[in-house]
Formats: sequence, C-alpha cells, structure tokens
Amino acid sequence: MEPSHEVKKAFFALVANGVRAAPLWDNKLQCFVGMLTITDFINILHRYWQSPLVEIYELEEHKIEDCREELLKYSNHTLISITPDSSLFDAIYSLLKYKIHRLPVIDPESGNVLHILTHKRILKFLHIFGTMIPKPRYLQKRIEEVDIGTFKQIATVRETDTVYDALAIFVQRRVSALPVVNEEGKIKALYSRFDVINLAAQKNYNNLNMTMQEAISSRACCVDGVLKCYPHETLETIIDRIAKAEVHRLVLVDKDDVVGGIVSLSDLLQALVLTPAEISRRAQPLKTNWDTNNE
Ligand code: ADP
Ligand code: ADP
Ligand code: AMP
Repeated sequence: MEPSHEVKKAFFALVANGVRAAPLWDNKLQCFVGMLTITDFINILHRYWQSPLVEIYELEEHKIEDCREELLKYSNHTLISITPDSSLFDAIYSLLKYKIHRLPVIDPESGNVLHILTHKRILKFLHIFGTMIPKPRYLQKRIEEVDIGTFKQIATVRETDTVYDALAIFVQRRVSALPVVNEEGKIKALYSRFDVINLAAQKNYNNLNMTMQEAISSRACCVDGVLKCYPHETLETIIDRIAKAEVHRLVLVDKDDVVGGIVSLSDLLQALVLTPAEISRRAQPLKTNWDTNNE
C-alpha cells in the first residue's frame, strides 16, 4: 500500500488537539469501529520509513474526520468499549485481557463516547479510595518477594541506537516503553510510546536516524530523570510512587542502576484486582489489521 498522507494527517490532528487517542467513526456502519492511538502512528512510521516518505503539508489544519476512510483500512472493526454502568472490574478486565491502553466508555442510548479510561486513571482512583479501606497485608511485602512485574527479557534500547531501532522494538515486542541504557546496562532515560508523538509535533518523522540521546533531549515535555524502584522496596511504596508520579511504569534497578525489570500499571492492576478474583495473567492481545498485514 502507498504511504498514506491521510493517516499522517490524523496524527497531526491528535497532536493539534492535545489528545493521545481518538475513536474511529465509520460513516457506513454509523458506529465507532476502533481507536487511533500512538501505537498505530508507530506502526505507520516503522512501515513507511524504508520507502521515501511523502512530503507533508500543513497537516495541522486537517481534522481526523477528513482521514477517516484511510484509517478504517487499519482498523479491525472491533471497538473494545464499556458502558457507564459497567463496573471498574469490567474496565480493568478489558484493558488487561486485550492488552490495550485506551478504553472508551460509550453511552448505549446515544452511542456517544463519554470518556476514555486508562490504567493511570483507574489506579489513581483506587489509590485515593484505597486509603479508606483496610490494606491487604501483602502490600508490605518487598517487590522481589511478590513477583509483580516483568523481570526477564526486558526490552531496552541503547543511548546510541536510533529512533528507528526503538520503533522496531516497539513493533516487535509490543512493549509500552523502553529503558534507555548505556553499554553497562545502566539506566539513563526512559523512552515511551507516548514520546514518539514528539516526532509528529516537531515534524521530525523524516529523521528517524537520530540517536536516542538526541530524541530524548529534544522531547518537548517529559518527566525529570527516570522513575525507578528497587527490589527491596515494598509494594505499597511502589504503588504510592507510581500513582503520585502519574507514569505508566517504574523501572526496577539494582544498586548500580542496572536495569532488572519493569513494574507497570498493568502488572499492578493484575495483582491487585484480577489475581485475587482468580483471573490469570493470560492476555489475548487484540488482533488488528497491522498484524494481518505483517503476517
Ligand atoms: P497506546 O498505548 O499507544 O495508546 P494501545 O496499546 O491502546 O495504544 O493500542 C494498541 C492497538 O490496539 C492499536 O492498534 C489501537 O488502535 C488498538 N486499540 C486500542 N484501544 C482499542 C479499543 N478500545 N478498541 C479497539 N482497538 C483498540
Ligand atoms: P501514557 O500516559 O500514554 O501511558 P506514559 O506514562 O508511558 O504515557 O508516558 C508519559 C510521559 O512520562 C512520557 O514522556 C514518558 O517518557 C514519561 N515516563 C513514563 N514512565 C516513566 C518513568 N518510569 N521514568 C521517567 N519518565 C517516565
Ligand atoms: P504495559 O504495556 O506497560 O501496560 O505492560 C504490559 C506488560 O509488559 C507488563 O507485564 C509489563 O511489565 C511488560 N513490559 C512493559 N515494558 C516492558 C519492557 N520494556 N520489557 C519487557 N516487558 C515490559
């Protein structure tokens, strides 16, 4: 398929409107048929980088509505959503089962999207209201004791690697962020899928050969330093830190700052909500047209 002008327009519309994701409306079906997220932007950039990219003109002026037809080709025509009367448990279950990060709340009467739920919002809510209920004892356990997080085969990127290398890892490993490490494996920064949107905001999508170091120093707004945790810290400390910092994950490091794991909001919600309900960690990642086209 030819590089698509129209799809890129949609991402500029996301940037221009200051949002991270937008539901996709199908005019023929008269309903929402998917979500447009930064992950889709990454898939597009990664796929078309090898071929000469079409020059992009004044894209900020275009609206997502103008590019719907093109985007629909990428949608799997399945929107995962919930209704306002669904429980918080249902929301967490859908986010984790389908391994998605954006869950629209749709009014069944009007079909309108009322809100888009994320792990961050849910954890924030649980954190605030959790202070009113007795805390389970296991919150006092150390993270190394409870096996909450990923501690093997961590996907990382080196400071000297290019942005294209990082995009390739995002596509292949489907992880939401990459610890940026030096040659000794020590953490230097964190590059998340969200940071890729800076390429669109700064019109830098033609320069995927820049190093991670350059990409990181040119980020428009980001968290200072890296939010980390240590194996001896308690689950409670970790939840407090992640909720206060409003980030999606902490990087687990040893005393020398060598990366040993990731503790993500997905891991915490699984452990705090689904595992106690005896729902195991087996996710069914949502299959999109990206997967079909890549097979
Ligand atoms: P990001 O972390 O970049 O916001 P996601 O992990 O939510 O992205 O998206 C992963 C893939 O799943 C993307 O192709 C996206 O279009 C799709 N997707 C995300 N949320 C939904 C949803 N609620 N319904 C259907 N597809 C979705
Ligand atoms: P989202 O809200 O899309 O889930 P993220 O939490 O992944 O976004 O990222 C939002 C911003 O926070 C990005 O600039 C990212 O680099 C930064 N960030 C996320 N996690 C960390 C972390 N552990 N340490 C430092 N910065 C982080
Ligand atoms: P997330 O996409 O961050 O919600 O996390 C989904 C799962 O992927 C969680 O079990 C995380 O611990 C894991 N994970 C996140 N980032 C990485 C990474 N860079 N390397 C390995 N696993 C990761």
